Amino acid sequence: MIDLHTHSEYSDGTDQPGELVAKAAAAGLSAVALTDHDTFDGLGEAYAAGAAAGVQVVGGLELSAEYLGASVHLLGYGPNPGDPALGAELAKLRASRTRRIPATLERLAALGMPISAAAWSQSVGDSPSPGRPHVADAMILEGYVATRDEAFHDYLDTAADAYVPRYYTPLLTAIDLIRGAGGVAVIAHPWSRDSLAVLSPEVLADLAAHGLDGIEADHHDHPPEFRARLRALAADLGLLATGSSDYHGLGKQNHELGSCVTEPEVFAEIMNRVESRNYE
Ligand code: AMP
Ligand code: FE
Ligand code: FE
Ligand code: ZN
Repeated sequence: MIDLHTHSEYSDGTDQPGELVAKAAAAGLSAVALTDHDTFDGLGEAYAAGAAAGVQVVGGLELSAEYLGASVHLLGYGPNPGDPALGAELAKLRASRTRRIPATLERLAALGMPISAAAWSQSVGDSPSPGRPHVADAMILEGYVATRDEAFHDYLDTAADAYVPRYYTPLLTAIDLIRGAGGVAVIAHPWSRDSLAVLSPEVLADLAAHGLDGIEADHHDHPPEFRARLRALAADLGLLATGSSDYHGLGKQNHELGSCVTEPEVFAEIMNRVESRNYE
């Protein structure tokens, strides 16, 4: 089994990379990609754990992009973490993530929910890529909400009172940056709530022509009919169709490792492209 979309505590997952890879081995995965939001920092630990546990670890990330103002997540497999252009863009994304936190906490305080420095530091840990899930965890620690879901629904979703926007990379630029760094570009959960309205079949055709490699068809955000339509669309457009759990440890319910998987043939093609692009 092959699972190509997971998060560690370097972004908004709750496992250390080594822990995550050990669990992947225990779950019977032969390959797992670590795809933290906007950072490569967990990869070293993940590779070491993969070598120890006999699991193939694919280095990747999930880049925060936007298309026509809607949030779109772009998975990159195998890009060179030392690529200067990609590195500069990731630094810009993380700076914007960091800048928005004090403004978010001010809004929560104004709503009668102050977050102590201790709760914030416990929830964000050493993550270089702070996000709303960390804010949600701090709210849980303070006893204001019971779950991340409740925090998002009541306070943190884009239409809610404590939402503060941040910078997202334009999607075409994001594809160029992943490809430019020798990586394979796959849109994560293309028909989840945020991106469903903008990623029409026509737009996906344009993106395929622009160099997009694939789309994640099997994902917990997609009902069965979306998965089938995305697979058919991928076949039409010459895109790869993947499946992945989007595992976040305790941060997301029902996203267990291996709960959605990518076929071995599709994975082999992804790794072929990674190899050939890194020799270009
Ligand atoms: P951010 O990138 O900080 O704006 O936060 C977006 C992240 O929050 C996404 O990567 C999701 O993984 C996570 N997320 C969004 N909605 C929820 C939810 N209802 N429960 C838990 N996590 C969520
Ligand atoms: Fe996440
Ligand atoms: Fe995502
Ligand atoms: Zn994800």
